[in-house]
Amino acid sequence: DPRLQAISQAIRVVPHFPKHGIMFQDITTLLLDHKAFKDTVDIFVDRYRDMHISVVAGIEARGFMFGPSIALGIGAKFVPLRKPRKLPGEVISEKYALEYGTDCLELHVGAAQPGERAIIIDDLVATGGTLSAGVKLLGDLFFSLFLGWGRVLLFVYIFFPSFISLVIVQCMWSQ
Ligand code: 5GP
Repeated sequence: DPRLQAISQAIRVVPHFPKHGIMFQDITTLLLDHKAFKDTVDIFVDRYRDMHISVVAGIEARGFMFGPSIALGIGAKFVPLRKPRKLPGEVISEKYALEYGTDCLELHVGAAQPGERAIIIDDLVATGGTLSAGVKLLGDLFFSLFLGWGRVLLFVYIFFPSFISLVIVQCMWSQ
């Protein structure tokens, strides 16, 4: 793709930031270049437009710079994966290892539903730890909702077996 070289050149490399030995990839210079910024978003939109994606999850903070535009372009909702104690509602959390120490991402319960297809957007993958935490978080959200419904169904099955067969008949009818 001929656009990729220009995009790559629009990213400034800052040696020894934030500490000695790190070659920091600074995407703020890409945001200053309208064509490179638009091409970046367009590449993702073209790639995911027809894949029935309904959730774009952006990782704080630089995933917020690309994720919402991609979500609008493909017709999906945007879900922020935030650092601890930023989201006001009920959350699930995922801790992950950094080079030194740990960090944590949080997600609002109910922001996505089982069966939805999601993509996760961030600006850069180094070890993959942050991205893996995002994947785990969305997986846990779907799983905990599934478990929640599992418990309800078990309860209904024990106390209202005829209701279960009604539900099954209803499902067969609706198919
Ligand atoms: P990982 O968890 O894959 O080791 O690191 C990726 C995370 O650290 C991303 O959230 C990314 O924003 C941030 N990060 C690490 N190194 C860089 C870098 O050189 N440039 C930018 N822009 N972000 C970085």
